[in-house]
Amino acid sequence: MAILDGKQLAQTIKAELRIEVDKIKEQGGKLPHLVAVLVGDNPASQAYVRNKVRSCEEVGFQSTLIHRPADISEKELLEIVEQLNRDTSVDGFIVQLPLPKHIDEHQVTLAIEPKKDVDGFHPVNFGRMAQGLPCYLPATPMGILEILRRYEIPTAGKEVVVLGRSNIVGTPISILLSRKGYPGDATVTVCHSRTDDLAAHTRQADILIAAIGVPEFVKGDMVKKGAVVIDVGINRVEDSTSKSGYKLVGDVDYAAVAPLASWITPVPGGVGQLTVVALLINTLKSARGEVYGLS
Ligand code: NDP
Repeated sequence: MAILDGKQLAQTIKAELRIEVDKIKEQGGKLPHLVAVLVGDNPASQAYVRNKVRSCEEVGFQSTLIHRPADISEKELLEIVEQLNRDTSVDGFIVQLPLPKHIDEHQVTLAIEPKKDVDGFHPVNFGRMAQGLPCYLPATPMGILEILRRYEIPTAGKEVVVLGRSNIVGTPISILLSRKGYPGDATVTVCHSRTDDLAAHTRQADILIAAIGVPEFVKGDMVKKGAVVIDVGINRVEDSTSKSGYKLVGDVDYAAVAPLASWITPVPGGVGQLTVVALLINTLKSARGEVYGLS
């Protein structure tokens, strides 16, 4: 078994991004600028956003955090989105999900200008992704592709089983891996909560991608020997031995599955690290006008 080390890979890519930023500085250009909008006090969202802002600083991007209380109205939030759409100093922005229940997430996502949608959640970017057109790929699936590419994991002709069919992870990664070219050309099966005999599917997988949000769901007897296991799940579970009172585990029972796998991503230190990096790559692409041209 070998580890797909997301932490190390993220450091490598961040170092590459820093070189790009230095070049921009040398040429007297404008630094890429990412804005994160955070609503409310959800601790996981706060941690994710902090990490995104910190990562921007690490690579030399400009970053701005807009934090609003949980009782902000949908109208007020949409006004912030409109303002960011218009602000020419902003290359890309994200509105951290989930949003409080009184706000329609779909409306907010739709309001984001696709040219600045560096999370790749807008239906325009999703549609372009599905058709193989230039777009911002959604950050987590893009992070998974980056892991496969950098570790040179073969995908052509492989049986890939994706657990989960969300719009942000399961569905897009299944589309991306079944597309022509590398990393792709795989035969992809998508499983979800209505799948019969899920383990019969997972046992066929050469590459198993778990994105369901159920702590340690994938057990040893569900995995083929030698499979590549990508664990997207980030679940907080109680842990009286840790200072915070909780620990993070994935959707895979790491201790049971790791000995069987040829490659496996740990949690933490796996896919999550690359999700943030993907956001940075999309922001740089936006600053350079690589996807939609310069505005
Ligand atoms: P969602 O809750 O949006 O989707 C979960 C999917 O899993 C659904 O399709 C659901 O099926 C399916 N599912 C749930 N329970 C089961 C089950 N028992 N058996 C089979 N399928 C099941 O989750 P997300 O895609 O947003 O996130 C998934 C996990 O990935 C979470 O732990 C999340 O925290 C993590 N995550 C990690 C990121 C990272 O950067 N590493 C980024 C984003 C998410 P159905 O459609 O039938 O309801």
